[in-house]
Amino acid sequence: MAFERQFGVIFTNPKLPVLDYSTVDDNIGIGSLVEVPLGSKVVVGIVWSEGDTKFDHSRLKKIIGTVNKIKLEPDFIDFLKKTHAYTLSPIQSFLKMAVQNLKFHKEQKMPIAYSLNSSNYSQITKRQKEIISYFKEQPQRIAQYKQIKKDLGVSSSVVRSLENKGVLSKVTENKYEQEKIFNEPITLSSQQRQAVAKIKEKYVKNEFQSWLLFGVTGSGKTEVYLNLVSERIEKGEQVLILLPEISLTVDFKQRIMKRYGALAGEWHSQLSLNERRKVFKNVVSGHLKLLIGARSALFLPFKNLKLIIVDEEHDSSYKQEEAPIYNARDLAVLRASTLKSRIILSSATPSIETWHNCRLGKYHKVDLPKRFGEVYEPRVTLIDMNVEETPKNSWISVPIIDQIKISLEKKEQILIFLNRRGYAPIAFCTACRISLNCKNCSTNLVYHKTKNCYLCHLCGYKVSEKTKCVKCKSDENFIPIGPGVERIRDEISKLFPDALSQIFSSDSFSKGEKHLEDMDKIKSGEINIIIGTQLVAKGYNFPHLKLVAVIDADMGLNAGDHRVMEKSYQVIKQVIGRAGRYASDGRALIQTWMPRHPVLQALLKDHGEIFLNTELEQRIEAHVPPHGKFISLILSGRKESTLIDFGKELKNQFYSLKLQNFEIFGPAVAPISRIKNKMRVRLLIKSNKITKISQIEVRDWLKNITVPNNIYFSVDIDPYNFY
Ligand SMILES: [Zn+2]
Ligand SMILES: [Zn+2]
Repeated sequence: MAFERQFGVIFTNPKLPVLDYSTVDDNIGIGSLVEVPLGSKVVVGIVWSEGDTKFDHSRLKKIIGTVNKIKLEPDFIDFLKKTHAYTLSPIQSFLKMAVQNLKFHKEQKMPIAYSLNSSNYSQITKRQKEIISYFKEQPQRIAQYKQIKKDLGVSSSVVRSLENKGVLSKVTENKYEQEKIFNEPITLSSQQRQAVAKIKEKYVKNEFQSWLLFGVTGSGKTEVYLNLVSERIEKGEQVLILLPEISLTVDFKQRIMKRYGALAGEWHSQLSLNERRKVFKNVVSGHLKLLIGARSALFLPFKNLKLIIVDEEHDSSYKQEEAPIYNARDLAVLRASTLKSRIILSSATPSIETWHNCRLGKYHKVDLPKRFGEVYEPRVTLIDMNVEETPKNSWISVPIIDQIKISLEKKEQILIFLNRRGYAPIAFCTACRISLNCKNCSTNLVYHKTKNCYLCHLCGYKVSEKTKCVKCKSDENFIPIGPGVERIRDEISKLFPDALSQIFSSDSFSKGEKHLEDMDKIKSGEINIIIGTQLVAKGYNFPHLKLVAVIDADMGLNAGDHRVMEKSYQVIKQVIGRAGRYASDGRALIQTWMPRHPVLQALLKDHGEIFLNTELEQRIEAHVPPHGKFISLILSGRKESTLIDFGKELKNQFYSLKLQNFEIFGPAVAPISRIKNKMRVRLLIKSNKITKISQIEVRDWLKNITVPNNIYFSVDIDPYNFY
C-alpha cells in the first residue's frame, strides 16, 4: 500500500493561509505545482512544507495531482523566500509570477506526427511498406498520425513498430528541443577580446560573481556578453538576458535569431497565452537555453540557469512601481547568488549603487572605454538659452535649426529628444484660466493632439478635445502650454516640410510586427528626423543617426530627490550616445538654461567616471543611498485623515522600537496626493548607517504591522520615485 504523506500547500492569493493536504503520490514533494480542492473549487498551489502532524490524515483533503509535473527547484524556492524578505511584499505575489496562470488543463494537445527517415528498410511487412510509400508522397515526408489512420486504416501498433525500427520518428514541434546549437562566430576587437578574457579568467564553477561591464555606447558590450552566453549554452546550460523595454526585446530577438537560430525564446506581457505556455514549459524542462525577457522573466522557474545578463542595468524600467514593488536588477543579483552563478550588469552609464559595489570590491568591473572600430563618441556642444534666441512660438533654437539644415543636406539622420509625451503638458481654459485636471488624480491632463484628447498619464482617464471647462462651463478653447514631442514635430514640419519625421514614444510606437516595420524605416534611414521621448534612450541602434538635439536638458534637474543628477546624466548621455555609432562625426547639441550645472559639464567634458565618483562621494557626505538606506511606506485609501492617523500610529510604533541610526519622516501627504481616486500619504525611514541587526528589526516590525481594512499599505525598499 502506498504510504500517505501530508503537506502544507501555499496559494498565489496572499489572503489564503498555508493549508494541509494529503497524498499517496510519491512524485509529489516540496516545490511541486499541484491542483487541490478548495471549497467548491479546484485551485493551483505549491507544495511548500511538510504538513502539520497534529492534523488527522484521514480528515485531510487529497491533492488532486501535479500540474504538468512541474516542481520548483530548492534554489528557486530559496530565491522567492529571500525576495520576500528583501522587498517585504507577500511571497504569494512572487509565486504568482513564478507559476503563471497558464491554465495547462485547458491546453489543446499537439497532434502527433511522424517523419520518414532515409534508412534502409529490411524485413518489412506489406502493411509497413504501404505506410512507407504513403510517407514518400507526403510533403517533407511528414504526416500526422490521425491522417495516416484515416487514409490507410492502420492501427497505432504498425506505426509504432516502424518507429521502433527507426524507420519513422516522432516529429517534435518543440523548436526549443533542438540539440545542435547554431552559433555564428563574430570577430571581436582587441578591446572586446580582452574583456571576454578577463571575465573568463575569473570563472570558477558554482561561484557567485557579479560583474559590471562598463563600456561607452557603441563599444560592443553586447558581443562581449554574447560570447559568454555562447559558452554556457554550448554546455547545455540556460541563460537569461533581461532588457529594460519590451519593444527592445523584439528588436534584440532578431539579432539573436541571426546568431543562434531559433534557439532563443522571449518573455514579456505581450506574448499570446499559447506562446507563454510553450516558453514556460521549455524553461522548466531546461530545453530552452536562452531567454530574452522583460523584468518578470526573472521569476520563471529555470531548471539549469547559469548566467544572467542585465542589459542597461541603470534603467529605471527595472523598477516595478506597482505592487509587488521590486527592482529586477537587484533581484537578479540575488537570483544569481542563490544559484551560485555569474551575473553581468551591462551599461554605459552604470547606476550609483552598482558603481559603489564595484568600489567596495563586491562587484568585478571590466571596461570598454572606446567605441568599436576606431569611431569616436559624439562631439557635445551646450547651447546656452540665456544667450541664444529662439524664433517666436518656437522651442528649437537657431543653432539647432541651422545644424539640422546642414545634416539634412548631407542626408544624415537627426534625433530630437524631449522627454514629454503628447502635444503639451498642460492646458488652460481661455475663459477662467484654470488648468484641465484629471478627475481621479491630483494631476493635470496632457494634451494629445494626434489622439484628439486630453489624457491622464497616471490613470489613463481621457476627455475629448471638445470638452467644456469644469469650472466655468465655457466651451471656448483650452490653450496648450509648453512643448511635448507632438508639438516639436509640428514645428519641424513647418521648418522642414520636405523632411520625413516620426515620433518615437510609447504612444506612437506600435507593437509586434508593425514595430519591426517602423524600426526598419528608422534603421534604413528612410526617416530623416526622429522625435523621441525617453524610449529612445534605451539601447536602440540607429545606424544612420549623426545629429542629436536635446531640447530641454534642465527638465529632469528640477526634481527634488537624491537621484536627480544620476537620472539626468544617464538619460542625456544615453540619448547622445545614439549618434554616430559607425562614423566619427556624431554630434550632440544640448539646449540648457544652466550650462554650468555639473551634469551638463560632465556631459560636455565626457567625464563619465569623474561624474560617478563625485556623485557617489556627495551622496556619502549627504548620508543618502547607497550610503545608508531609504524605505518608503506608502498609505493609500479614501480618506486623508484616516491615512494620516494611521501614519502617526506607525511613527509612534517605530519610535518605540528605539533603533539607533534610524530616522522616520512623515506622515505627509504625497506630492501627488491622489491617484485613481485614492488619497496618498507617505512616510520615509532613513538609516545613516546600516547595521544588520537594526535592519532586521525594521523588517520584522514592518512584516507584522496590522493594517486597517480601509487602508492599502505598501513598502518600497530603495525607492526610485518619491511622488
Ligand atoms: Zn473655464
Ligand atoms: Zn488620472
